[in-house]
Amino acid sequence: MTQQVHRGTALVTGASSGIGAVYAAQLARRGYDLVLVARNRERLATLAASLTNETRQDVEVLAADLNNREDLAAIEARLRDDASLTLLVNNAGIGTHTPLVESDVDHMTRMIELNVTALTRLTYAAVPGFVARGQGAIINIASIVSIAPEILNGVYGGTKAFVLAFTHSLDHELAAKGIRVQAVLPGATATEFWEVGGLPLEHLDKAIVMSAEDLVSAAITGFERGETVTIPSLHDVEQWNAFENARRAMSPHLSTSKPAPRYRAA
Ligand code: NAP
Repeated sequence: MTQQVHRGTALVTGASSGIGAVYAAQLARRGYDLVLVARNRERLATLAASLTNETRQDVEVLAADLNNREDLAAIEARLRDDASLTLLVNNAGIGTHTPLVESDVDHMTRMIELNVTALTRLTYAAVPGFVARGQGAIINIASIVSIAPEILNGVYGGTKAFVLAFTHSLDHELAAKGIRVQAVLPGATATEFWEVGGLPLEHLDKAIVMSAEDLVSAAITGFERGETVTIPSLHDVEQWNAFENARRAMSPHLSTSKPAPRYRAA
């Protein structure tokens, strides 16, 4: 059903398929206008036409390769200059299941450039305007491998650990300025991600795979409830609370003038 409230404009990266396309649909239905970013212009245009038809929201397409510095700069400029933007969804990303040392280092570098560098630059472009206007939100799509890097390729896990740590830091610095920040940690989700990463979805146990629609609905519920970290597939939230409380309890003890006694030479 179409939502009549006007919430400003959301820029969604990686909106041509999977999780990003579902975000676009669910945000339009909640009353956001959209700017859709990915490389495949035709897919973006098809989605834009269907969402405009369904929701009557304004949906614009910006075809861009976020691994290309000029294309990335154009999206950064849009984030800097468009005061109607209220939400950035940093979703574009790639992964792989190939073991770390068997992976091509150039491919790993391109993964870092997309999952980390582009996400960081887009955030840097959006934040000053959000702060000046005293409102705005950033949703960063991380992964369960942010906290479980042994599950897939280690560089992929490293990029997603960055996204989680970056989100914690952004929240720490920006919450008091009225800016909302959320990291979403999906488990295995039924999208083209798996095919693109070299492991077709059919090879996964169905019991661990969520639909993109369920994933995004749960993530938006977490966002609307004010969560900074949302893990849609984790049923026992006390496991996350224990993990996070242990990390925060250790934090004041991590820098001291003397080595811990256990490191005294025998
Ligand atoms: P997907 O269907 O393959 O979508 C990836 C999106 O990123 C596509 O729209 C793709 O569009 C875009 N993209 C890829 N390279 C790009 C580039 N160089 N420049 C601009 N856009 C680019 O996979 P997905 O599962 O929805 O992935 C979305 C996010 O969820 C990723 O960050 C991924 O790491 C994360 N995630 C996925 C899973 C999962 O199991 N699926 C689990 C945890 C986290 P174009 O090809 O048109 O550019």
